[in-house]
Amino acid sequence: MQPLFVVPGSDVRNPIRSMPGVSQISVDLVPDEARAAASLGIKAVILFGIPESKDPLGLESFAEDAPVQQAVRLLKDALPELAVITDVCLCEYTDHGHCGLLDEEGYILNDETLESLGRIAVSHAQAGADVVAPSGMLDGMVGAIRTALDGEGFVNVAILSYAVKYASAFYRPFGEAAEGAPRFGDRKTHQMDPANAREAIREVALDVEEGADALLVKPGLGYLDIVRAVRERFPELPLGVFNISGEYAMVKAAAEKGWLDERAAVLEILTSIRRAGADFILTYHAKDAAAWLQEVRA
Ligand SMILES: [Zn+2]
Repeated sequence: MQPLFVVPGSDVRNPIRSMPGVSQISVDLVPDEARAAASLGIKAVILFGIPESKDPLGLESFAEDAPVQQAVRLLKDALPELAVITDVCLCEYTDHGHCGLLDEEGYILNDETLESLGRIAVSHAQAGADVVAPSGMLDGMVGAIRTALDGEGFVNVAILSYAVKYASAFYRPFGEAAEGAPRFGDRKTHQMDPANAREAIREVALDVEEGADALLVKPGLGYLDIVRAVRERFPELPLGVFNISGEYAMVKAAAEKGWLDERAAVLEILTSIRRAGADFILTYHAKDAAAWLQEVRA
């Protein structure tokens, strides 16, 4: 699955410094980018939006004409066969950069945030998204989104839950890409401690109970034991892994210096994620990997 960062405007391509080869692109460039991915055999894209302006409530997250909503419409027109997944969170849209609405002391307001997440998911579904992917790991988010979608008649829009998301040092380049790094504090209150394995299964069980249609573990490489455990415990649900920005950046940096064979390293990493039990992988290496795999098959 190919991640895409969508910004407002037209003909905009902002290279992301810490992720060589990855750029933020404007809405108008999204169909061509997706077409290029699809021609290599990539069957799905996941969209992250960067709004025109940010505010404490992240209001642009559910605006009909925000970058993600526009991009989804263009994609479903241009490439109806391509699965379009949208990231559902507030951190890219709030001026404080946190994944939820905050009270006066800076704590996340869970119920108010769930209501916003429901509105975001519905606006993505209205634009034509096939799958919504809530990434904030807030209590009750999957159930709240399911209720909101069903209430508007979107019973066929699936939920890919970021069920297991560790508080990782490897998100840092993404903070630059999505411009969603917290302005203060961190996300350790709702992301998981890397030392904790058993909690992962509990988190997944809650999301499954609330109606998640597919599961995601994030990051990938350092957490393959968790991928395997989730695979074995929940064999009935599709399981994805997000091979995240820092994992990508490490390989790119080493390859640039000639310290790693990029192609061999990437294919080995993706194979190991698959071997651990992932059915699909979100990765910034998607286009390269798809092209290399085509060569292998030929
Ligand atoms: Zn978030």
